Amino acid sequence: MTRPDARPVASHFVDGAYVEDAAGTPIPVIYSATGETIATVHAATPGILERALASAERAQVAWAVADPAERGRVLRRAADLLRARNRALSELETLDTGKPLQETLVADAASGADALDYFGGLAADVTGTSIRFGEDWAYTIRRALGVCVGIGAWNYPTQIACWKAAPALATGNAMVFKPSETTPLCALKLAEILIEAGLPAGLFNVVQGAGEVGAALTTDPRVAKVSLTGSAATGRKVAAAAAGGMKHVTMELGGKSPILVFEDTDLEDAVSGAINGNFYSSGQVCSNGTRVFLHESLHDAFLDRLHARLADVVMGDPLDEATNFGPITTAAQADIVMRHIATAEAEGATVAIGGRRLDRAGYWIEPTVLTDLSDDMTCVREEIFGPVMSVLTFADEAEAVARANATEFGLSAGLFTRDLARAHRVVAQLRAGTCWINQYNLTPAGMPFGGSRASGIGRENARVAMDHFTEVQTVYVGMGRVESAF
Ligand code: NDP
Repeated sequence: MTRPDARPVASHFVDGAYVEDAAGTPIPVIYSATGETIATVHAATPGILERALASAERAQVAWAVADPAERGRVLRRAADLLRARNRALSELETLDTGKPLQETLVADAASGADALDYFGGLAADVTGTSIRFGEDWAYTIRRALGVCVGIGAWNYPTQIACWKAAPALATGNAMVFKPSETTPLCALKLAEILIEAGLPAGLFNVVQGAGEVGAALTTDPRVAKVSLTGSAATGRKVAAAAAGGMKHVTMELGGKSPILVFEDTDLEDAVSGAINGNFYSSGQVCSNGTRVFLHESLHDAFLDRLHARLADVVMGDPLDEATNFGPITTAAQADIVMRHIATAEAEGATVAIGGRRLDRAGYWIEPTVLTDLSDDMTCVREEIFGPVMSVLTFADEAEAVARANATEFGLSAGLFTRDLARAHRVVAQLRAGTCWINQYNLTPAGMPFGGSRASGIGRENARVAMDHFTEVQTVYVGMGRVESAF
């Protein structure tokens, strides 16, 4: 296989340069389309972690008091470099994850560049308030938190690194980022590009490793905040560990999000939304709308259109731009998805479309649609994180809302209807952090994104993310004499 010239040259990026420590546990990087090992990185040793944290702590002091307009210029230059190298970075993202180039060319470095541009533009606009108390007054300053840790999932390695680094750096923090051990390559390229854009050494470090490296970073006393993208189970562990050190957290976790399709909807748009919300990135998207609730009058027509549209799936070489559906990113996750499909059948579900693992190298599973379901079945309750859509029906709006909310998760929700009064009435009742009306899974940088309940705490993107990487310092200003009791 041809490897892109853009590949990283060592396992870690610390204090402005690539570093290697071969004493760390080797981690093979496997191209999920073929099962081939395309690179090997080493998990961070205690020495690498120490260098990363020490350089971040040192560099952050000057960065926090740098001209914020200059901080913004650095981020915007990095955005330009990401865009200029989009093809090479997209090929690397495809090799790291298996996602088809058709997707990575538009969704990964491009989304990362958008975040760097957006937060670069806002860097000089972090303001406080002033409050009068008669002659006395107080003012507030939004201060950087210090050294922040970012921990990523495997599905969007470039985007996750950028979504965390951009608001952290814009507001004067340093970051130590640990990618998922299964997709370690892309964040290294971001680190390299940030240095080229003028970021001082030490402010964005990438260290590799599995959960224990993330855990070591989370509990280090020098760390002020942990921003995790991962599963709800890991989120609970990381938030609990961070609470022990009274650290700030942002938790972007999993979901089991609903898409409600009402009887008056534009059926073709609803089918497109359900396809995007279940099969993009082979279903490995946290906010996917994996419980598709159809008004009962639409069931047959919706499935007919799904059948017809899924005939256009092309499961070819992900580096060929004609391919529109890739493999599952890891062998372990492919096994989990196949177990879920088997459990669904054992519990009485019908596999209406797909359901098979392809008999070829790599981790390929067909886009799968399950029907004849009830809300208590495992496939309707648990996040599968693969290309499996559960189709259910409802009779009226109140029932649809109640069943949509009957989950511990609360990441996202979508609804399709031509009745805008109904759309806003329903959305106001949905317990989900991010909702779409007549659209699904679009996440522009200017829109807050994140979940409620078991799906997380805090928001990424938009101005609100800058609040999550700063804290308020209050200054009371006495203008008169100081009175005391004695
Ligand atoms: P995991 O929860 O398994 O892992 C997430 C990251 O946390 C990985 O880097 C992992 O390391 C690390 N980690 C694991 N244990 C610990 C620990 N005790 N302390 C610190 N770090 C730890 O998630 P996946 O990688 O499997 O990703 C899939 C999940 O991510 C899904 O649930 C999905 O919904 C969610 N997700 C959420 C998004 C959102 O924005 N809300 C976006 C994308 C995905 P390693 O795996 O390398 O061992």
